[in-house]
Amino acid sequence: MKTGPERTDVVIVGAGFTGLSAALELEAAGIDFLLLEARDRVGGRVESRQNGLGERIDSGGQFLCQDMPELMALVEARGKTLVAAYVDGDFVAQPAMSARAAERNYLASMLIRDRMNAIEPDDPAIAGLTVAAWLDNQNDPDDAKAVFRSMIEGLWCQALEKLPLWHLIDNDRRITNEVSELQYFVRETMHSLADDLARGLGDRLRLSAAVTAIEHGPGRVRLASAAGTIEARTVLIAVPPMMASRLDFAPPLPAALAGALSVWQSGAVIKVLVRYPKAFWRDRGLSGMVMWRDLPGLFACDVSKDDDHAALVVFIGGALALRWRELGDTALRAEVTARLVEGLGPQAAGIIDLSYRDWTDDRWSGGAYSDLIIDATATDAERTLLSGAPPVHFASSELSPSFPGYVEGAIVAGRIAARKILADLQSAIATSASGS
Ligand SMILES: Cc1cc2nc3c(=O)[nH]c(=O)nc-3n(C[C@H](O)[C@H](O)[C@H](O)COP(=O)(O)OP(=O)(O)OC[C@H]3O[C@@H](n4cnc5c(N)ncnc54)[C@H](O)[C@@H]3O)c2cc1C
Repeated sequence: MKTGPERTDVVIVGAGFTGLSAALELEAAGIDFLLLEARDRVGGRVESRQNGLGERIDSGGQFLCQDMPELMALVEARGKTLVAAYVDGDFVAQPAMSARAAERNYLASMLIRDRMNAIEPDDPAIAGLTVAAWLDNQNDPDDAKAVFRSMIEGLWCQALEKLPLWHLIDNDRRITNEVSELQYFVRETMHSLADDLARGLGDRLRLSAAVTAIEHGPGRVRLASAAGTIEARTVLIAVPPMMASRLDFAPPLPAALAGALSVWQSGAVIKVLVRYPKAFWRDRGLSGMVMWRDLPGLFACDVSKDDDHAALVVFIGGALALRWRELGDTALRAEVTARLVEGLGPQAAGIIDLSYRDWTDDRWSGGAYSDLIIDATATDAERTLLSGAPPVHFASSELSPSFPGYVEGAIVAGRIAARKILADLQSAIATSASGS
């Protein structure tokens, strides 16, 4: 028997937090939809794996804080357990300096960040300027600049030489937490929250269903995917912009939209989880937090779930991740161990498990933590993507009005996009009803 393509009202491409949040919004409104995910799991850049001890660990997005209202509400609604990250004691600065000098440098670097964010992103005086060029011209002590660079390369996983200043300011102003974003993590893993969200979707969620091509015309789309051909009224592409730029559109997207997709680049990060028999640093009055000025983008902190699960997470971000991934497995492990010994003393060599996840060039995410615009002239790219080319719509954490590049941002972006699609569908239905 010959069967035609499957039909639905809305197809969502990508089951990260953006796609899952959009799907739940459509479900609540009673809209027919399908959620197509390339991987064999949901969560996207939120993922969990087993470490060498058989423990499930977050190998992607993990932390949250009280200033992220939508994520906090979900965590509570789904009955997850929050673990407060251990922050008592001194943080360590590398190369070594006294705790007071480290604190002074940190505060000075935050002043640089505040000064940067006081600049209007559309100020013509900064047009074309990269963050690196701006920083060079600042009249701050070299150590404070080095901490600023390490912090920003660590947070955005992109070399400051590539990052337009207006874009960083525009992003950073939307990241409005007053407490540390590393305040909490989820005992059951952040990834378990994505699984919970997916559970109610039944067969509307299709895993291992990578979308490759999208034909589009007024009020209709036709998608080629690993799960077959699907026709719908509209599509929400809930993948990072760089991934979206790899999809094949027929007819090609309008030039401005194709251009807006082409200016993003994914960050590079390797996330390392190091387990110890004991949180030895705490006995020495240390918080476990280490920041390296000489290796921008390298950062460690305590992620012990309890006394029986002592652990540090080490983030290797930006240009450093690109260099260290070339070392190979054995040398990378040795490098991380050596840096921890340097920062926290010889006990740091007593590792019982070191597991890492290299997100650089990830097949379906492109990298981490988020894509960033690397073309200083592309000041309209985000607005253009948000407008899309209906019936083709785009959403991802990167395009969120709050917390872009974070799980919170993905939730907000997914819900906003779904509401827009709902409004469009309802007005299309009203128009066809009044015409009939
Ligand atoms: C190592 C790491 C650490 C992080 N730490 C934190 C943290 O502590 N706190 C925090 O808030 N955020 C953190 N983040 C960022 C956060 O995880 C992301 O901002 C957020 O999860 C992005 O969600 P998204 O749905 O927009 O995109 P994604 O999660 O990337 O989801 C997109 C989905 O689309 C799928 N896809 C791609 N192409 C296709 C295709 N052609 N067809 C079908 N499906 C496709 C992908 O497989 C993926 O599942 C971290 C990220 C990483 C990688």
